[in-house]
Amino acid sequence: MGQKGRSIVKMDVDELINLLNKALSDEWLAYYQYWIGAKVVKGPMKDAVIAELTLHATEELSHAELLATRIIQLGGTPVLSPEEWHKLTNCGYDAPADGYVEVILDQNIKGEQCAIKVYSELLDITRVGDPVTYNIILQILSDEVEHEEDLSSLKEDLELMLERRR
Ligand code: FE
Ligand code: FE
Ligand code: MG
Repeated sequence: MGQKGRSIVKMDVDELINLLNKALSDEWLAYYQYWIGAKVVKGPMKDAVIAELTLHATEELSHAELLATRIIQLGGTPVLSPEEWHKLTNCGYDAPADGYVEVILDQNIKGEQCAIKVYSELLDITRVGDPVTYNIILQILSDEVEHEEDLSSLKEDLELMLERRR
């Protein structure tokens, strides 16, 4: 931990670390939901959907990396065991039990919408007190906004294609 780096944070650091660990848990669950979703997805436009889900999985993992690094900088301990993810998560986990493309897209759109809400709140919380964390959250939030749009646009294409066939 950097003493000076931690001392410039003008908010409750332990509470902030707790919120960052909750987000870290969300990211691991999101990573796995995308990763396993890309394996089991089936139906029209499968290849395009697999490509996007796989890319999003790697991006969620990079968010986990950013959050864990920041938690350590603040003198905290990143979540150490997967059992804790379920206790800490804000957005939960939706198992892709039905692999149909539209169901998978809907589940992940819901997840992105939850992530956008969580990061938007974290942005408000850190805005004044911790510009370093604010900057990290802003990067992550920008990705989540992009993710929601990517998935929604795939869903639109899918619906257009199915309509034309009727
Ligand atoms: Fe993420
Ligand atoms: Fe995302
Ligand atoms: Mg994308």
